[in-house]
Amino acid sequence: EPPVLEAVDVTMHFTVRGGLGRTSTVRALEHASLQLRRGRIVALVGESGSGKTTLARLFALMYTPTSGEIRLRGKAVAPGRGRAAREYYSEVQMVFQDPFASLNSMHTVRHNLRRALLIHGRAGKNDIEERMLDLLERVSLTPTKDFIDKLPHELSGGQRQRVAIARALAVGPKVILGDEPISMLDVSMRLDILNLLARLRDEEELALLYITHDIASARYLAEEIHVMYAGQMVEGGPAEEIIQNPQHPYTRLLLDASPDPARTVTAGGSSVFADVEDSGEPPNLAAPPPGCRFHPRCPFATDDCRRAFPARTEHPTGQWVHCWLYPSGASA
Ligand code: SF4
Repeated sequence: EPPVLEAVDVTMHFTVRGGLGRTSTVRALEHASLQLRRGRIVALVGESGSGKTTLARLFALMYTPTSGEIRLRGKAVAPGRGRAAREYYSEVQMVFQDPFASLNSMHTVRHNLRRALLIHGRAGKNDIEERMLDLLERVSLTPTKDFIDKLPHELSGGQRQRVAIARALAVGPKVILGDEPISMLDVSMRLDILNLLARLRDEEELALLYITHDIASARYLAEEIHVMYAGQMVEGGPAEEIIQNPQHPYTRLLLDASPDPARTVTAGGSSVFADVEDSGEPPNLAAPPPGCRFHPRCPFATDDCRRAFPARTEHPTGQWVHCWLYPSGASA
């Protein structure tokens, strides 16, 4: 099945003004490609500064890429206004880490949802009440009168994120971009929101991008995991392959830092990192290291790694990796 939404070889460099009129270039994202398909969840995993939020914002048409394209059903799209933008956002919606970012905190749940339904013409005056109650039920909230007349700050964190998801669903999207949607919630509510996202994938056949720094939640939720480091996509493929048989040293570092009792195999036996806690920091993207940007932290780095970013090596399972340890074209 062709992708609903895809990034095709997208690069994003920002020009940042410093003191004394100097400018510098922040190389936030290099040659990233990613495909989102109906009824599938793709997780994008990385630390802050890995480029994952930049890629999500490119999908949300908040920036024009320096090179490459964002395509909706095969057609290139670009930031815009008016009708084209309205049409795009009726198909592609974002859910943020902070639900207040998508809800108007001055207005009740009722007002927030009504507005979203009316703006996109998904309900008329007659059926709006019914549509609003239906939305709340789809996100497993009980739409009592008391509830819908509350302000966002009167809700629990989990309820607020459900209302934000309901608001995103109000326009009838095909794609939801979730940027760390559970990281601000109490631990006890996180699983509920992940289960809600999984249900929306299954019942509404949404294409979902799940952005997270937590590879264990990616494994729980997603069919595919893509790992980013310092603006480069380093490894990706079917979630179970990535967890059970990680190839890239950075993926192994992430897994070592996130103990997961269900993970039965550690690639290469024990950890390749002497000390996960002390394995270094991601680089400054205004002056990134050449070649593979992970090389200053990588125990396997060679001159090749410092010289050039490795080509992609594909495995028959669908897993791929950019690392000089795996000769391109070979399967490991
Ligand atoms: Fe390490 Fe080299 Fe692979 Fe980068 S390309 S992860 S530096 S071995």
